[in-house]
Amino acid sequence: MSENLFAEPNLKQITVWARGVLQNKDARDVVVALTEAAAQEDKYVQAWENYVDLPDRVYVPVRAYAKISPDPIDSRYVYENDAPDVVVLMEETLVKNDKILKGLKEGGILVVNTRRSPEEILNFLVTNGNLGTVVTVDANSMSTAVVTLDGAEGATDATGIGAGISAPVAGAVVKASGIVKLENLEKVVKNPAAMRRGYNECQVMKLDKIEPAEPVKEETAWDLLKRMPFAGTVDSPVSENPGMVTGNWRTRRPVIDKEQCTECSTCWIFCPDACITRTDNGMEFNLKYCKGCALCEATCPSGAITMVPELDFKE
Ligand code: SF4
Ligand code: SF4
Repeated sequence: MSENLFAEPNLKQITVWARGVLQNKDARDVVVALTEAAAQEDKYVQAWENYVDLPDRVYVPVRAYAKISPDPIDSRYVYENDAPDVVVLMEETLVKNDKILKGLKEGGILVVNTRRSPEEILNFLVTNGNLGTVVTVDANSMSTAVVTLDGAEGATDATGIGAGISAPVAGAVVKASGIVKLENLEKVVKNPAAMRRGYNECQVMKLDKIEPAEPVKEETAWDLLKRMPFAGTVDSPVSENPGMVTGNWRTRRPVIDKEQCTECSTCWIFCPDACITRTDNGMEFNLKYCKGCALCEATCPSGAITMVPELDFKE
């Protein structure tokens, strides 16, 4: 959108994806640390979070944004980054989300907090349009995530910037992008040793060929409005609400052992998203809506359900 409205050839956009309220702080720290470092270089900067993303939930994908430019930022009131140069994932299963690379600039960079290699991560991407570089950094082994609600909703943040996994992740961003000088990032993070490990130990893979991004046709608010009945009778409630897909919240997936399952339906009663159905083939999960809360596993009296890491599955 802003591409058409604003000509800002020197503007860099960084979009950080994380999971819910517990990772919100580390996601915010990445954008704040990078912009604070850029401010030391007399750049124009912005750092903010996307409150459309329901950041008070636990596993929901949430975004934090940074803009950095040597010139005044004309698009400063555009709420979402529309053309990121760098996309960061604070948790590896976010790689399956088909929105993460939306609008990525040609030759853009993807940085993922994971123990996996860039090749493995590339394998999970729904699309790699415009992607030029994949970077992986095992930030969880270099620092401890800051799990705190300090700083949420504008409260004072007592832990400081870059005390947790944000420090090595920001280090990896700088290694891959050179977006700020390393010494300036070092001045603003609370854990510079972890930041340097992220910089030195991340794996950087440049892609041989950059695939062009496919145009994505998304349903707009206007399209949705046009589908709403104006008056008179309305459709019965549907069994699925495509406006509230929660399957992309999941980091672990329930797997059922049908030999052990007695079809008692306890899991069906407890699933908060009504995504378990009794079929002729036994109990089935609707993975489009299963958010991976593990209540079914906890309540199954037969121990027939096991939560398995999401990236054990390609699809
Ligand atoms: S609670 Fe366990 S045993 Fe009962 S239907 Fe669900 S999976 Fe089967
Ligand atoms: S993990 Fe189990 S209880 Fe939770 S949403 Fe998925 S199917 Fe339902």
